[in-house]
Amino acid sequence: MKILVMNAGSSSQKSCLYQISGDTLPDQPPTPLWEGQIDWTHQPGVAEIKVKTAQHSQKSAIPFVDRSPVVSQMLATLWQGDLAVLDTAADIEAVGHRVVHGGSDYQSSVKITSEVKATIGKLANLAPVHNPINLEGIEAIEQILGSVPQVAVFDTAFHARMPEAAAIYPLPYEWVDQGIRRYGFHGTSHQYCAQRAAQLLDRPLESLRLVTCHLGNGCSLAAVAGGYSIDTTMGFTPLDGLMMGSRSGAVDPSILLYLMREKGYTAEQLEQVLNRESGLLGVSGVSNDLRSVLAAITTGNSRAELALNLYIHRLRQCMGSMIASLGGVDAIVFTAGVGENAPEVRAGACAAFAFLGIQLDPERNAASPRDQVISHPESAIPILIVHTQEDWMIACQAWQLLHS
Ligand code: ADP
Repeated sequence: MKILVMNAGSSSQKSCLYQISGDTLPDQPPTPLWEGQIDWTHQPGVAEIKVKTAQHSQKSAIPFVDRSPVVSQMLATLWQGDLAVLDTAADIEAVGHRVVHGGSDYQSSVKITSEVKATIGKLANLAPVHNPINLEGIEAIEQILGSVPQVAVFDTAFHARMPEAAAIYPLPYEWVDQGIRRYGFHGTSHQYCAQRAAQLLDRPLESLRLVTCHLGNGCSLAAVAGGYSIDTTMGFTPLDGLMMGSRSGAVDPSILLYLMREKGYTAEQLEQVLNRESGLLGVSGVSNDLRSVLAAITTGNSRAELALNLYIHRLRQCMGSMIASLGGVDAIVFTAGVGENAPEVRAGACAAFAFLGIQLDPERNAASPRDQVISHPESAIPILIVHTQEDWMIACQAWQLLHS
């Protein structure tokens, strides 16, 4: 089955085509036949399209007003021109979409119907940036590929069975009916990493208590017990929890009330500061990219050093709370840009748990090997790096729903 994956974000559209043959899913993700990416923020009003296959790659920049024709142009390279890997558009047998918010409505992936589309649209009030873009992608596929089966894979679904004590905020209970609760995000990544860790450890996922640490531009942790998320650090929105690249993570809500009352900040201004001017960028004044912050530290930049210390401090706090929610831990998993590539962050975070006998192997940690155990042989529990493969997970979920 040839499955197209559509992963739309606010600043980029990533897509890839997987081929899944036979009646079982392969143990390890295959290389996609084709990968396409659109960067919407390349230059104002100009989109950059990159397309890659095993043999070729191509880059172009085109002016745009609406996104839809640009997406169509990128997808057309699947069956037209030098990079074509298909004879016709009809060779695409299924499309899997990453949809950010499934609210309380969806606990797992679903085949897209007009009712599902309406719910995704309705949930735009909870994810105003992402859900409309996801819906746009679904409708673009309907236009380009007609009635091809489409599947929605929700970022929130993996967390949808969290116990109420983890999911509900200590606010007036009536607000729960208005949808104010912890949803959690990065669910596809946490789920993939939990499954892959169980595979790498050769232990049944059902028997494991895992803390999965997704540390990218956005950062979140999940407490995974028996294959389900029972707690997570992101909340009602992806702003809660850990300190991130440019997002604050959890802060005392009274700071915002103070700023509104005393300094006249509007909701929009606060949204901008909390999402785009905080985190590593806000504290260091250097960048939201950890690599630049680390480089600044080597030149003696004390605010960059503070930003790293704060990032690690928050990470330790939240890891501790996930371990407490699980009542113990059988393995810790690091993933995404920072989690996979920054030994200093992993070392700083794990050092706090030395009292539990948790210990990294300094050499393995320094090498940042993909999909391997990086703990010391005498560590009380294994610590792993897993290369997250959200797009593959989306393809697998689409395959599982449609193949049966
Ligand atoms: P996204 O959340 O957008 O998917 P990624 O998971 O790709 O992001 O993570 C991007 C971040 O990973 C970068 O902003 C950077 O901070 C971090 N990163 C990537 N490579 C390295 C590295 N070698 N060392 C430290 N940090 C890195």
